[in-house]
Amino acid sequence: MTDHMERVVALSKRRGFVFPSSEIYGGLQATYDYGPAGVELKRLIKDDWWRDMVREREDVVGLDASILMAARVWEVSGHVAGFNDPMVDCKTCKGRFREDKLEGSVCLKKKGKTPLECGGELTEPRLFNLMFKTKAGPIDEDAATIYLRPETAQGIFVNFKNVMDSTRVKIPFGVAQQGKAFRNEIVTGGQIFRMREFEQMEMEFFCAPGTDEEWHEYWQAERLRWWQDLGVRKAKLRIRPHGKDELAHYARGCGDIEYEYPWGWDEVEGVANRGDYDLSHHQEGSGRGLAYRDDEKKAWVVPYVIEPSGGVDRCFLTVLCDAYEEEVKPNGETRTVLHLHPKLAPTQVAIFPLVKKLGMPEKAQEIYADLKTRFRCLYDQAGSIGKRYARNDEVGTPFCVTVDGDSIEDGTVTVRHRDSLEQERVPAENLAAYLGDAMAAWTRE
Ligand code: ATP
Repeated sequence: MTDHMERVVALSKRRGFVFPSSEIYGGLQATYDYGPAGVELKRLIKDDWWRDMVREREDVVGLDASILMAARVWEVSGHVAGFNDPMVDCKTCKGRFREDKLEGSVCLKKKGKTPLECGGELTEPRLFNLMFKTKAGPIDEDAATIYLRPETAQGIFVNFKNVMDSTRVKIPFGVAQQGKAFRNEIVTGGQIFRMREFEQMEMEFFCAPGTDEEWHEYWQAERLRWWQDLGVRKAKLRIRPHGKDELAHYARGCGDIEYEYPWGWDEVEGVANRGDYDLSHHQEGSGRGLAYRDDEKKAWVVPYVIEPSGGVDRCFLTVLCDAYEEEVKPNGETRTVLHLHPKLAPTQVAIFPLVKKLGMPEKAQEIYADLKTRFRCLYDQAGSIGKRYARNDEVGTPFCVTVDGDSIEDGTVTVRHRDSLEQERVPAENLAAYLGDAMAAWTRE
């Protein structure tokens, strides 16, 4: 892990964003828990995606399919036979690596070298299926084998007909879903970047064959726009088209949205053109019609599918990495700050009395009670004002409101801006409008 990444990980634990899972028992590799600040940020990311992808669109509806599905789904989708990664072992350092990611891997003995450079002898690659198996019911026999879903997408495909029959959607339309997925990854890492249990936000957009390339372009642009609207800096995002040799078994084309992490450019979301692969296979496998009626062609047609598929956790890590900054203040002190978009900040406004007397706590409580109906607020009177500011900078609170002696006299309070460190006096009765405007005007270069 790079130094920068180690500091982001340390902050995420210190401030209650992400904790290693089962930590008091030594942890379980590649599993993490979200703390009080983290669960807020994660929900806010998911809600923003849902608003953008479902609520504000007329052509996308939502779904929440189960994690456990009939085993046949995964046989027909190609996952039982083909959801494999090539695995190699190093006979020298005993490390286990993904053959397609050797360049980004690190030798267990010679830390600065990749397994291609360290001189160790690698075994021939073996295919390793990433699906977790389990048994349904009390019978421990092969017929009871089912899988934890490795992607949420199949839940959408098998419900295609149900959605068509129960709503008024017409091609082109999309079905969106968020939920847990599980992959028994050969190599995990980058904290929550690659885990064995993670959450996806996926949308399958069904369109007429022949219009798919246009929709593919459209969705790549739309998704990049969403990432930028989250406050992630433009210069750190790019779209990388897949080469023919790296396309998944179902894909006709794919563009990865990538972010420049501390370790380099890496995928945050894939936007794939899955053609009619999934619906055609499920139509054949289930014997149920999964086509739509094309009135012009007077024929039943299996639609093509464009799929923007992102990870909630990876998005969370991207937002944290992008927001994290260690900066030198004008007075020469350094501070760590998260420049989160105000719409994602776990706390938007922190309200403090300067001291715990002279009517200041009562006034600050009154402001807190009023503002908390509009913003995510926190009241804090513990410790020095400098420490309270520092704590809120680290958790990404964009505004701190301080009630002091003058507030009792003239009814004004100090608003401190997290990013610019500017402080302004604002009449308490104008606070809600003032903060609302400042949040709406937020930008970051
Ligand atoms: P990779 O090649 O890195 O293994 P992938 O191309 O197989 O990833 P997809 O199947 O396209 O990944 O998954 C869609 C999204 O789900 C990814 O862009 C990522 O954000 C998220 N994702 C996939 N695997 C994991 C994981 N193990 N941990 C966290 N997020 C993941």
